Amino acid sequence: MLHPGDRVGVPWLGYTCGSCFYCRRGAENLCECAGFTGYTLDGGYAEYVAADSRYCLKIPDQYTDIDAAPLLCAGLIGYRAYRAAGSARNLGLYGFGAAAHLLTQLATQESRRVYAFVREGDLVGQRFALSLGAAWAGASTEHAPELLDAAIIFAPVGSLVPTALKATRPGGRVVCAGIHMSEIPAFPYALLWGERSVCSVANLTRADGADFMGIASHTKLQPTVQAFTLAQANVALSKLRAGTLAGCAVLRVLD
Ligand SMILES: [Zn+2]
Repeated sequence: MLHPGDRVGVPWLGYTCGSCFYCRRGAENLCECAGFTGYTLDGGYAEYVAADSRYCLKIPDQYTDIDAAPLLCAGLIGYRAYRAAGSARNLGLYGFGAAAHLLTQLATQESRRVYAFVREGDLVGQRFALSLGAAWAGASTEHAPELLDAAIIFAPVGSLVPTALKATRPGGRVVCAGIHMSEIPAFPYALLWGERSVCSVANLTRADGADFMGIASHTKLQPTVQAFTLAQANVALSKLRAGTLAGCAVLRVLD
């Protein structure tokens, strides 16, 4: 329950209809009439925003505004993917960006082992993953020292689906966490055989948001943030495209 004066965040899911097939089944993340902040709803890149309070999330006190920003996107979507990965003890993360760097901290605090797969030759990314507690870090073309119980693919690269299946034990799951992904190449059925599964996650529900903020309030998550001014937005996007950002980029709208 929010109160006047609460410090809140406005997440990606900004509205759902409450009456469609999906909303009635507790899957409002798939709502046919959903509104998304900064996409179909105004907001973002602005000093002020009007938001439906039913979808806003109270920010835990120990996070600054800048540190809280990544929790609202990378953190929330990453968390839904993390839950979809089940109780995996050996968890592979493909693409070590904003979401993976937060999940690694959460997973290691829950006594899971994280195997971080980064772009080939990205030694900075490997070191970054290891510094956050990953048990192993290497290129996606390398073999992790153990089979994975589950893998989450954050990189929008379809060819990682068969790669991740190959690295996953029978009964394991590969979760595709991106909104977009390049075409998934054909692969032998043997990679799926053994009750492996592939799924995607889409958006978030308010329950995900409440769960994750609850965890963030008593778990020590330390976002690695590079802050940019609003005028530097294109610089931040270029760095993101070039893969030269460690952690998250946050735009500081008010200086
Ligand atoms: Zn709906």
